[in-house]
Amino acid sequence: MNASTVVQSEVVSLVNISSQLWPPRHRTYFGSLVVQSPKRGECFAVTPIRACKGVMDLGDKRSMEFAITAREIADDIARELNNDSGEGSFHGVFVAAGPEPTEDELAEAQRRLDEFHRRLVAAADLEWERSHNPMFITDLDRRAARELKLDKPWLYDPKPQDDCPACGEKIKPGVAVCRSCRAILNPEKAAQFGLVPSGSSVAQTSLSAPGGSNASAPTDNEKSATESQSHREKPAGKGAPK
Ligand SMILES: [Zn+2]
Repeated sequence: MNASTVVQSEVVSLVNISSQLWPPRHRTYFGSLVVQSPKRGECFAVTPIRACKGVMDLGDKRSMEFAITAREIADDIARELNNDSGEGSFHGVFVAAGPEPTEDELAEAQRRLDEFHRRLVAAADLEWERSHNPMFITDLDRRAARELKLDKPWLYDPKPQDDCPACGEKIKPGVAVCRSCRAILNPEKAAQFGLVPSGSSVAQTSLSAPGGSNASAPTDNEKSATESQSHREKPAGKGAPK
């Protein structure tokens, strides 16, 4: 058995603990490779990586074959996936020492992933405090907060808003009446829901301001207020409890 056959039979396990789905990885020496992601209810997925032979072009139609170990390929792919989001980013991909990841390896990867997510959330918090602009919060930030099960005001994509042409206040698109200045923005819709005073506004106003019925209300309120007051006196008379 020579060195090259040892290399050929070597398989290492590329482990992924992130629910993120990766587009296939491409290399000239193995073509395309899909890194597995954990399915529902699973906490990790293993992608077996095999050794390959690379071909080096020496020019003049001469080429040289060289062996690439499974470990080299797996390390390369793990580095590429983890560094996807800049310096020090980590996306939960690592190369296991054995065919299956150990508890310690999984715990360490989870710790690094949580740490990376916490860093993203802290940066998003700062950004939100500064700008209050959801445009500056990335999908990665939102994923990080969800993974850490944190509720953040910047987690939600706010509904797009329009400006009221009358008063300039923010309004929801398609509303019939501006809530700030009462301008009718969509007469048809406003009429449909009876929001247009339609000439009889004076009569409606006098009807909706029933001064007479209001006058009797304070009497009832006063009565109940006195009642509850007399109830309250009893426990107070006992003196301070404890
Ligand atoms: Zn308005």
